[in-house]
Amino acid sequence: AKSQGRNRYQFFNHNLQADIINNKRLADEILSGIENGEFTAWYQPQFSARTNELIGAEALVRWNHPSRGLLTPDKFLKIADEINVVQTLDRLVLDAVLRDKMRWAALGISIPKVSVNVSARRLHDESLIDSLLNLYIRPGEISFELVESIFLDESEDIAAHNLDRIKSLGIDIEIDDFGTGHTSIVSLLKLKPKRLKIDRQLVQPIVNSPQERTLVSSIIDIARSLGVETVAEGVESAAHAALLHELGCDLLQGYAFSPPLSYTDFTTAAAGQTWR
Ligand code: C2E
Ligand code: CA
Ligand code: CA
Repeated sequence: AKSQGRNRYQFFNHNLQADIINNKRLADEILSGIENGEFTAWYQPQFSARTNELIGAEALVRWNHPSRGLLTPDKFLKIADEINVVQTLDRLVLDAVLRDKMRWAALGISIPKVSVNVSARRLHDESLIDSLLNLYIRPGEISFELVESIFLDESEDIAAHNLDRIKSLGIDIEIDDFGTGHTSIVSLLKLKPKRLKIDRQLVQPIVNSPQERTLVSSIIDIARSLGVETVAEGVESAAHAALLHELGCDLLQGYAFSPPLSYTDFTTAAAGQTWR
């Protein structure tokens, strides 16, 4: 038993060491990837539940890794966070969005709003606002998606202050992943977001579970009574879309309409309104 224990220890130790080496390599590759412009914005369209019109898109970061191909955030965001470069990635995505919006405008393609994900740390960064001041943003054309936990930690005051300034620049606030983690209705009152994104974990069961349907229905009703629009995430079927429309949800996003697309594919689809 003793030797087994020792083996196990060595096994663990060996894996740990391999992890450290892999993470270090990944961290170095992220830094050089930033230098080399390997990170880009992909877009997932959002539609009006009522009219099915294209209303906007969520920008999602992707990494064109030189040897591993296209990588999604689950492969790199955790390490990027550990080495403190999520803010840099968020900024790259915002810059890409502003550039792509100009290209769409030049092509006569209307994408009324684009939202970007903003990491908690960035909202606490006092230089964030300075970096936004010299941008020209028309009211409502950009939103920041924030997860609620942002507002519940110790530096709440700076975050609240920054939030007000962001709003005053014409940038809308959307609460992301609502229904998971530190969700509270109180924060809706406090933050006065423009939109609430209902997490896909809540959205997906609504077709089969009356209880979850009631829950989502109540969230939509409360949001509406506060003048907050709702966006359903992870809408994977026409049945979900129809039900969400019936429940009064405003915007729909999910594989039922389209997965996230590269700039080129998104632009082609938006030009011809050919989703899926
Ligand atoms: P999120 O903000 O909740 O983004 C939605 C995620 O759900 C995306 O994954 C999207 O591809 C996926 N998704 C969309 N429709 C469906 C559907 O119908 N079914 C299912 N099962 N999934 C769907 P993605 O792009 O891999 O992003 C994962 C997470 O990484 C995002 O979750 C967000 O938290 C984070 N993230 C992505 N881009 C950025 C960024 O630029 N900055 C920061 N800070 N975080 C980002
Ligand atoms: Ca999001
Ligand atoms: Ca989300």
